[in-house]
Amino acid sequence: MTPASGSAGGVTDAQWSAAVEAVRGLTPGDDGDKIQLICHVNPDGDALGSMLGFALGLRRLGFTRLRATFPGPFELPEPYQTLPGRDLLVPDEQAFSDADLVMTFDVAAESRLGALVELLPPAPCVVALDHHASNTGFGRVNLVDPGAAATSVVADGLLSRLGVALDREIAECFYVALSTDTGSFKFDLTTPAVHELAARLIETGISPGAISRRIFDTRPFGAMKLVGEVLGRAALDPTAAGGRGMVWTYATLADLERHGQRPYVLDTLIDPVRSVAEADVAVVVKELAAGEWAVSLRSKGAVDVSRVAVAFGGGGHRLAAGFTGYGTPGDVVVAVRDQLESCLI
Ligand code: 5GP
Ligand code: MN
Repeated sequence: MTPASGSAGGVTDAQWSAAVEAVRGLTPGDDGDKIQLICHVNPDGDALGSMLGFALGLRRLGFTRLRATFPGPFELPEPYQTLPGRDLLVPDEQAFSDADLVMTFDVAAESRLGALVELLPPAPCVVALDHHASNTGFGRVNLVDPGAAATSVVADGLLSRLGVALDREIAECFYVALSTDTGSFKFDLTTPAVHELAARLIETGISPGAISRRIFDTRPFGAMKLVGEVLGRAALDPTAAGGRGMVWTYATLADLERHGQRPYVLDTLIDPVRSVAEADVAVVVKELAAGEWAVSLRSKGAVDVSRVAVAFGGGGHRLAAGFTGYGTPGDVVVAVRDQLESCLI
């Protein structure tokens, strides 16, 4: 098995070499070069896991001037608060403004970097690791493999090319990333190579059961009540998407407040919504600020929801995508519905 087996296609040998050289050209150590790692706003398991796992790999290479960050409030969702490598995390305002290398993880577009986008132009090199088909190519070296199930697959490919062996801490980060983005090894991109990578990760001694329980199956009581309420207001529109159907719901900041919950508890809300048999398309609209909504889109195969998301300034994958919408939840959903027929696969 070659190191690239988890990420066939998408990344050329020249791109891998350029990324290896970008790291190998730097000086490790306390007086060495500075590396700034960044993942996307509202980070999920793949964003944090691929970034922190890779950062730990850089630490194994002797780099000590390492910082990892993401834009926005410096708040880690509860399930990710025990990730190895979290000591490398700093609030966005403490990011190196003079990094010798900037690396981005799971970032499909510069808009996902918030104010941290300013770190890119002055950096001598920017290496972007990602797996979104909609990636805009903003890096100077782009390791973007839309066939990879998670950005951690790309991060693993680069670490092995740098000669870093997986250890238990790196493996835990990558396992969180891989299991998050494959929906616990359920989605279509769950290839033999994904299971081979999972096998290599588990061989380091990590506990998949304990990790999965923490990431997917542990939420406060209030979160269950909140989700129950939000699912209770879901609506089904069987005529949407050329008769394939759309199901949708929404959650407000007031809902979160009423149940005393943090936004991360709604990260997996899309899963029960997408399970509705009568709808190909599932939409969840979550309030970010007054009149501003994070919109999650999923399809079972009839609609290319990444095209829908791109039409509204977002992005993602063919069957899982998102964007920021404005107005009322009804406004957002009507706009989405209007796009669906032109994005049928
Ligand atoms: P989720 O619905 O789980 O938040 O996101 C689904 C997919 O769409 C993920 O791959 C995520 O990175 C992408 N995505 C979600 N929101 C946005 C957005 O506002 N812009 C872009 N470019 N991608 C997004
Ligand atoms: Mn991802």
